[in-house]
Amino acid sequence: MNASIHPNRPDGRTNMPDINECQICGAPAPPIPGQSDGVAGYRLIRDPWSATPSFLDGNLHFSCLEESGKSSDFYAEFTRMTQAGHEEIESLDGSPPPLTRMGLAMTQIFSGAECTVFQSGVSDRWMVVKRTGPWFRLSHEDLLNIGRGQVPRSPAEVIPYRLPVDLGNEIGEYGLHEMLDALGVADRYAPESELEGIEYEYVDYYPPKLLLEYAVRAPLSIPQEAHAFLADYIESYIPVSFEDEEDV
Ligand SMILES: [Zn+2]
Repeated sequence: MNASIHPNRPDGRTNMPDINECQICGAPAPPIPGQSDGVAGYRLIRDPWSATPSFLDGNLHFSCLEESGKSSDFYAEFTRMTQAGHEEIESLDGSPPPLTRMGLAMTQIFSGAECTVFQSGVSDRWMVVKRTGPWFRLSHEDLLNIGRGQVPRSPAEVIPYRLPVDLGNEIGEYGLHEMLDALGVADRYAPESELEGIEYEYVDYYPPKLLLEYAVRAPLSIPQEAHAFLADYIESYIPVSFEDEEDV
């Protein structure tokens, strides 16, 4: 962890993992679908990057994930959780009682050289997981767009993100690249020219809590093999429901 990036952290902690930081490199990791996303602690996914036994709880830069030598460990854990229902898993030190995991209860419907694809059994939701770790959530509309030969885009949801330091009210004037640059993490994301394909909108900033809110709508660049499979698959797919997706 790079402690120097949060010298003004209000809680004064420097050694506790912060969910807003990349759990691999320790730098700020504002979520951008397809480039940086979070894993909730209650999913009980073992953290392959932690020196001590622990469950992952926080964000990951997908660039760090893909470059990591432990991405295959993450992939195995993540895809197990994706398919798990209600299951018992060992506690961190192996002592009883075991912990109960609630997985996403999805079913694998495609396995290729680069990725696997999972489908929810109860709603019109899919997940593409690259073997190098990054994952992409897809809706029914996304699959219809894939069927039309288009690149799916994430929904324009408002994302709350706690900054490591106060960047001042100018943050409201920043574009996406400037915001990432001000946090010192632009190199963990796609190059500036590619970021232009992302619709970014500043929503709000609350300095007392360093809380930034922004909306992004980003292209989801899934592997071509998944695109080809899903384009064919959606032609005969019958929708089951329109429930909201579960968070990972
Ligand atoms: Zn990182």
